[in-house]
Amino acid sequence: MYRTHNCGELSRKDIGKTVILSGWIQKIRDLGSLFFIDIRDYFGITQLIISKKSVKKNFVLGKEFLIKIKGKVVKRLSKNYNIPTGEIEILVSHIDLLNSSLSPPFTIENQTDGNEEMRMIYRYLDIRRNPIKNNLIIRHNLALETRNFLSKNGFLEIETPVLINDTPEGARSFVVPSRTHIDKFYALAQSPQLFKQLLMIGGIDKYFQIVKCFRDEDSRSDRQIEFTQIDCEMSFVEEVHDVLVFFERFIKHIFKKIKNIQLDPFPCISYSDAIKIYGTDSPDIRFGMPFIELNDLIQRTNINFLKTQELVIGIKIKKCHNLDDKMNCFFKKIENKNFFWIKYLYDQTLLSSNSNLFNDKILKIFVKFFEAIPGDLLFIFYGKKRKTREELGKIRVKVADILNLKNSKKFTPLWIKDLPILEWEEKYKKYKSVHHPFTSPKEEDIHLLEKNPKYVRSKSYDLIINGIEIGSGSIRIHNKNIQNLIFKHLGFSKKEIESRFGFFMKAFEYGVPPHGGIAFGLDRLINLLEGNKNIKNFIAFPKNNYGKDIMINAPSFLEKTKLKELHFR
Ligand code: ASP
Repeated sequence: MYRTHNCGELSRKDIGKTVILSGWIQKIRDLGSLFFIDIRDYFGITQLIISKKSVKKNFVLGKEFLIKIKGKVVKRLSKNYNIPTGEIEILVSHIDLLNSSLSPPFTIENQTDGNEEMRMIYRYLDIRRNPIKNNLIIRHNLALETRNFLSKNGFLEIETPVLINDTPEGARSFVVPSRTHIDKFYALAQSPQLFKQLLMIGGIDKYFQIVKCFRDEDSRSDRQIEFTQIDCEMSFVEEVHDVLVFFERFIKHIFKKIKNIQLDPFPCISYSDAIKIYGTDSPDIRFGMPFIELNDLIQRTNINFLKTQELVIGIKIKKCHNLDDKMNCFFKKIENKNFFWIKYLYDQTLLSSNSNLFNDKILKIFVKFFEAIPGDLLFIFYGKKRKTREELGKIRVKVADILNLKNSKKFTPLWIKDLPILEWEEKYKKYKSVHHPFTSPKEEDIHLLEKNPKYVRSKSYDLIINGIEIGSGSIRIHNKNIQNLIFKHLGFSKKEIESRFGFFMKAFEYGVPPHGGIAFGLDRLINLLEGNKNIKNFIAFPKNNYGKDIMINAPSFLEKTKLKELHFR
C-alpha cells in the first residue's frame, strides 16, 4: 500500500492515527538529530519529523526524492494556518525510498526562480508547482461546465476529423504528406467548420465539440499554433434571438461557475459603429473614452486647416492633467503628427499644443463640445478616415494603460455584429472573407452581392471581452447560388470550386437547414478569466513563441528513410 491518506488531507481530527503517505520531498531541514521534511503530492504538503536514529547511516535524501513513510499524526507546535495540514505533523516510524531524483533545475514551489525556458524544458517539474497545477484544474472545470451546460441544452458532442484538406479559413494550414497517396497531402483542420455544417445537414439539431485546431501562424501571448475551441452549431436559428441570446447565457454561466461573477447584459453594436466609436472591431469598453466626431463643429469655426480634413475626432481623458510628465512623454512618441491636445487645468486655464493656432475662444468651443471639466484632457486627431480612426483607437488603449484604467477585476463583454462579408486585398487584388466563406450575407444587402460585394454586411458576430476576441461565428449560407457567388468573389474558378468544395456543394442539393454557430477560444477564455497574462499558463505542454516544443524538441528533422517513404525528393 502506498498511502492511507494524501499529503493534503490530514488535520487536527486525525491526531493519534497511524498513517502511510507517499510524496516528493519539497524541503528538508536538518536539525542535528532530526530531519524536518515537507512532502508534497497533488493534494498538498505535510510536515514530517524523522529521527536520524530511525534511518540507516548512509541513507540519503534530497529535494524531489520520492518517499513512502509510515508514522503517527501528532499536534504541531509551530502551526502554519496557511495550509490545511498546518496544525499537525507526522512522527515517522518507517521510511522507504521509492525513487531518487537529480537536484531540480529550479525551485518547485509557488514562487520559482526558473525562467520560462527552463520551466518549459522541464514542464513536468513545473506542473508539480501549484500555480500551474491549479491552472490545469481550472481548465478542467471550465471544460466540464461547458460540457454539462451544452449537453443540458440539447447539444451533442461529436468528434470531427483532424486530417482533412486545406480550407480557406483565413490562416495557413499545417500539411501532412500522405505515404500511401504519392504527392498528396492532408491538412490539419483549422477548425471543424465544414464538418459541423455537414452535421446540421445530417439532421443533428445542435452540435458542440471541445476541439484542437491547428493554424500555422506566428505565436503570441494569446495565440498558439495548436489551440482549443469550444465549437458549436445549431439548426433552425436566427442570429440574435437564438444564437446570441443562448451564448450570452452560456458565457454568463461560465463566469458565474468559475469566478462567481454575475455579468451584466452584453451590449451589442455593429461593426461600423465599433470602428466609428472605438477605431477597432475589438474594443475594450472598460474605460469609456468613445470617439467624438468634430467635423460638424469644425465647419462652424474658422479653423481652416481642419475644415478640409476628411475626419476630425477626439477623446476626452478625464482627470488627467496631474499625470503631465507621463502624458507629455507619451505624446512625444506619437509618430503621426496630425494631432493636438487641449488641457483644461484645475485653475480653469486652457492650454493647447497648438497655442499659436488656437485662441482661448476656440479652445472654449472644444471644451464646451466635449463637456469637459477642469482636470480633463482633450486629445484630437485628424486626417484620412480609416487611418485616423485606427491610430486614435490605439492611442485610446495606450492612454488607458498609462492611466491604469484597465481594471483586471472588471469584465465587459460586448457583441460586435454585421461585419462586412468581404474585404478587398489591394496586395493580391482580390477579395477575402472577413469571417469565412460560409458566412451568410444579411438579407437586406443581398441585392448588392453580385455587383457591389464590398458593401454587403454579413450575419456574423464576435464576442469581445475587455478588448479580446473570445468568440466568433455567423449564420451560414444555406443557399447554393449564394455560396457559389461567394466562392466566385473569392477568386475560385468553377473547376476549383468543384475540386475543393464539390462534396460540400453536393450536400447543398439535399435540403440544407438554416443554421449558424460560433466558436470560443478555450485557452483565451481561461486566460482572460484568470488575469490575462499568457495562454501558455493554461496549456499543459505549450509551444514557445517560435512554435517550438522545447521539451520534446519539435519540430525536428525526419530520418532519410522516413522522407523517402513519404516520397520526398
Ligand atoms: N469556424 C469559425 C472559426 O474558427 C467559427 C465559426 O464560424 O463558428 O473562427
